[in-house]
Amino acid sequence: MDGQMVDWRDAKIHVLTHTLHYGCGAFEGVRAYETVGGTAIFRLREHTERLFNSAKILRMKIPFTIEQVEEAQKAVVRDNNLASGYLRPLTWVGSEKLGVSAKNNTIHLMVAAWPWGAYLGEEGLKRGIRVKTSSYTRHHVNITMTQAKAVSNYTNSILANAEATDDGYDEALLLDASGFVSEGAGENIFIVKNGVIYTPDLSAGALNGITRNTIFHIAKDLGLEIVQKRITRDEVYIADEAFFTGTAAEVTPIRELDRIEIGIGSRGPITEKIQSAFFDIVGGRNPKYAHWLTPVNG
Ligand code: PMP
Repeated sequence: MDGQMVDWRDAKIHVLTHTLHYGCGAFEGVRAYETVGGTAIFRLREHTERLFNSAKILRMKIPFTIEQVEEAQKAVVRDNNLASGYLRPLTWVGSEKLGVSAKNNTIHLMVAAWPWGAYLGEEGLKRGIRVKTSSYTRHHVNITMTQAKAVSNYTNSILANAEATDDGYDEALLLDASGFVSEGAGENIFIVKNGVIYTPDLSAGALNGITRNTIFHIAKDLGLEIVQKRITRDEVYIADEAFFTGTAAEVTPIRELDRIEIGIGSRGPITEKIQSAFFDIVGGRNPKYAHWLTPVNG
């Protein structure tokens, strides 16, 4: 926390913290995996760069270097003796002054880590999850900035996820302001039709997911074509397969949207191949991507 290793119970902030009131802050979600070469953080550089880019978009200057923030993430996993887990770096605006203007307030940064299994359940990874199209629209690209992983963007995600799970579904699918498919509450979406993989282009307001990018590499290796395009809700209904991706969600098949079964109604064959390649990479079993794994003891 701000450059010091602080015990969990002592990692506190003031109630007048600017970000707590107005939501201008940025965070990351990162995973450390137990790999054949020891515990390693997956795509640490890309996550750390995205954190700095989010801060830049939000006009916040992080008072540390990328290298220092990378070191902090490695140290937190190490000092907590985690073999694997989830990391949460967060940068926020301090409590010096309240009111909408955050100018001249201090900028802070912390990294927490804890053990975290499959975000949408082990069963979800195997059988697929049930998804509902949200009644909430995803942020338009000129509202809170969709390429920033901004704290305030997540009220939209929380509402969508709560609505879907209160209705008995596992997760929400959000559409953009024009009604095209954008993303899940905390995941990017992919569909498969006639052997081709499709995902919304980023103009639909989806986050530029690092797992999404990993899928692009995997698809190329598997000789599968990926097309970024506008996708309609009914294209998902009639897709052969669909899946969500994210650091927390990893590669989670979608078996149903709005009670309409997708394809065979469970994990499809292309999803399974991609999922298996993904777990090989994060587990350190694919030497081609060894550079994506940063050992915490290195
Ligand atoms: N969209 C949203 C809204 C998210 O919160 C996340 C998780 N960070 C993603 C997509 C997936 O991004 P990534 O693969 O980088 O975790």
